[in-house]
Amino acid sequence: MHKTSGKEKMPLLFIGHGSPMNAVLINDYTKSMSVLGTALPRPAAILVISAHWLTNGTYITSSDKPKQIYDFYGFPQELYNIKYPCGGSLEASVYIKNALARFGAELSEEWGIDHASWSVLKYIFPKADVPVIELSLDMKKPEKYHYEMGRELRKLRENGILIIGSGDTVHNLRMMDFDDINAKPYDWAIEFDKNIKTAILNHDHEKIIDYKKMGKSAELSVPSTEHYLPLLYVLGASENNEKISFPHESIQGKSISMLCVKFETMEQ
Ligand code: ZN
Repeated sequence: MHKTSGKEKMPLLFIGHGSPMNAVLINDYTKSMSVLGTALPRPAAILVISAHWLTNGTYITSSDKPKQIYDFYGFPQELYNIKYPCGGSLEASVYIKNALARFGAELSEEWGIDHASWSVLKYIFPKADVPVIELSLDMKKPEKYHYEMGRELRKLRENGILIIGSGDTVHNLRMMDFDDINAKPYDWAIEFDKNIKTAILNHDHEKIIDYKKMGKSAELSVPSTEHYLPLLYVLGASENNEKISFPHESIQGKSISMLCVKFETMEQ
């Protein structure tokens, strides 16, 4: 693939996406996402590692017109009315598949763009004019495997691909306060997020991979791994000499972290 969008290396993002309702709300989080978008270079393509595409094996979307997937139930109609008519890019999909060859990643036309992509991209790239590709999560593999795959994704950043891990560091739906997203967060949620942030700033990736060692706060914050794993890809694709910032941080509904992380080269 050619460099199609400027010479600089693409930044790297982890986005806490939280409830799909954020796609129709105006709040501090959605405002942060819009601001974040205005500061990004234009990528040749976007690769989203999605907390909502769970597979046995690793897959990469390859459709030129990925279908928009409304992968939730019982939400207001206005959410189903949101359209994010982005294209795909077979060229970029093949390039990513080759980058992940040693992991046996395969192309797939069965999936499309789920709300881990479109509910955040509608703020970051509102024109939907950049091709979007999703990468699935192989749920049979351990945490370290996902991090190692992230290492292989590093070179994509030199070739105009913006990598976005879309999940949530803290994601406990069972304990969430659905009625009040501004309710005071649980202490364990605050503690876990703080520990993750510190470990990111200290480049202590082992601590984040072995998050279970953080005890009770980890157990409550990560009751299942699918929203946590996209962070491991992003850490894998980062370099230790990059500038690290947090474009947004909050906890919605007591137990859903909206923490976002941005890595970028110092020269930018
Ligand atoms: Zn989600």
